[in-house]
Amino acid sequence: MKPMAAMLALLWLLTFPVAFAAETPTEIYTVEELLAIGEDPAGSYILMNDLDLTGVEWPCPDFSGTFDGNGHALLNLELTKPGATTAITIDGNQKKYDTYLVGFFGSLQGAEVKNLQLLNVRALIDIDTPCFLGGLAAHSMDSKITGCTVTGTLELRAFDRMFGVAGLVGYGNGTVENCNVDVTLICTDTDPNTKDEQFMGGIFATGFMDVSGCHITIDGYCSEFGYVHNGGITGMYMRRPIGYDYKGNLVNNTVTGKITFFECNPDRRAYCAAEAGEILGSYNRISNTCDFTRDERKDYSVELRPDMCLVPGYEKTVVAPGCDTYGYTLYTCTGCGYSYKDDYTLFAHTVTVWTVTEAPTLEKEGLSTGSCDLCGLEFTRIEPVLEELPTEAPTEPPTEAPTEAPTVPATVVTPAENPPYALLCLLAICILGAIGVCIALLRPKKRRGGKYAKKKVRR
Ligand SMILES: [Zn+2]
Ligand SMILES: [Zn+2]
Repeated sequence: MKPMAAMLALLWLLTFPVAFAAETPTEIYTVEELLAIGEDPAGSYILMNDLDLTGVEWPCPDFSGTFDGNGHALLNLELTKPGATTAITIDGNQKKYDTYLVGFFGSLQGAEVKNLQLLNVRALIDIDTPCFLGGLAAHSMDSKITGCTVTGTLELRAFDRMFGVAGLVGYGNGTVENCNVDVTLICTDTDPNTKDEQFMGGIFATGFMDVSGCHITIDGYCSEFGYVHNGGITGMYMRRPIGYDYKGNLVNNTVTGKITFFECNPDRRAYCAAEAGEILGSYNRISNTCDFTRDERKDYSVELRPDMCLVPGYEKTVVAPGCDTYGYTLYTCTGCGYSYKDDYTLFAHTVTVWTVTEAPTLEKEGLSTGSCDLCGLEFTRIEPVLEELPTEAPTEPPTEAPTEAPTVPATVVTPAENPPYALLCLLAICILGAIGVCIALLRPKKRRGGKYAKKKVRR
């Protein structure tokens, strides 16, 4: 038995590091590394810092692994088109649709997503097929979402059979715990002649998810010529597929906000409520706190939007980032006063005083140190190699320097101020040199002057 035990031990030792390595998440530091999750969607990932996604064409990848946001934020995610795959969604009558998916994730399948912040998600989708739009995911099957935050504005324009928009998840099942959502949702039926099913919810548009401990702030706008299903948490809680006996839970959530909508339809039902617009089957609703307004309109001639001005004009106010606060631009309509935040910027420290600790030379980079005016955190920056004699200020500022306050000038010697000092020194040396030359010229004359003196004496 001994050789057998030794072989087993050896096998365990050989396989243990492999098993351990598989559980170690891949660290994400850059946008490129974030985009690479689509290449291994079953992997395990951890976000290592905040990232600004401005200008990134987001592919809405499907995902079945583990994604740990690690408390970090992805700013300015822009969703403009569906992902590469579709999924089957089911309506309240158990009809099935091949549905296009738009979200940070397209479809989550048995995935776990935690502690991720999606701040200032911007989505505008105009589509002629069934479609679900969700800030975190368009579609979720048996997935778990914990401690995530979504803020932003998501707009879906559609007309075909079944579609919807939500702060977190478009359609599906699984669990959502301790998430924060603060969103403006706009859903517009673009064809008055088709009767479709439209869904809107702060957490999920429709499906059968368990939601607990979430805080939802919603400002919804829905213009619909078919059937409306709107709610602070979900538009419609569906029964599970026929024969599946399950009682879902909505527990300890808070809902604040309103949904403004119209349903232009002679056999209208207009489901809109604080927790769930329509409930099919059983659903436990326990200890939810709601401050919700169901704002139904009867004018079907104008699309409902947060800003109803015909030609909105916006004033911009840029708010700079701080050491631990994001910057943003506040847009305020001069006509109606409606305002929203956009163009978020990453944290930035303010260093106005840099001290050169190693002066750059013609051959070698230098170093400067400085501390943040606000939080005192120390920074080091590289001073570039001097191109020429220091008679001119360097043309380019150091590229990796933390943000400088442009209005407050540096009060100690910085690379930019070195040349004037050097110039002064050169000037001083020249003057001293000139004086020296004059003295040197005069001295021999004095010696010769002795002869003159003699001459004078002779006179
Ligand atoms: Zn306005
Ligand atoms: Zn700071």
